[in-house]
Amino acid sequence: MPIYEYRCTDCHRKFSRLVGSQDATPPPCKYCNSPHVSRLMSRFARHRSEEDALDALAEKLETADESNPSALRQMAKEMSHELGEEMSDEEIESLIEGDDAGGDDEI
Ligand SMILES: [Zn+2]
Repeated sequence: MPIYEYRCTDCHRKFSRLVGSQDATPPPCKYCNSPHVSRLMSRFARHRSEEDALDALAEKLETADESNPSALRQMAKEMSHELGEEMSDEEIESLIEGDDAGGDDEI
C-alpha cells in the first residue's frame, strides 16, 4: 500500500497515511480532524527516477572500456544530458580522471 503525504489547510500540519488503492477520499487531518486536506506531490517518485538515472550511469561507467577515454567522455556527456545537467569538457575530464587522484605527487 502506498503512503501518501497530506497537508491540512486548516492547521497547516503535514501527516502521512497509508492509503488503499481504491481510496480516493483524503483522510481527515490527524491533528485537528479537519476534512480540508490536500495531498502533497510525492517526493519519493521524483527521487526514485533521479536515483535510477545515477544507477544507470554508475553501471555504464563500471562496464565501460577504461582504455578508451573518448568513449568514456562521450558516455559522460550523454549521461549528463540525460540528468539535465550539462557538463563542460573540463568537468567531464575531471570526472574521468578523478579516479586516480592522489596517486602520484610530482611536485
Ligand atoms: Zn489540521
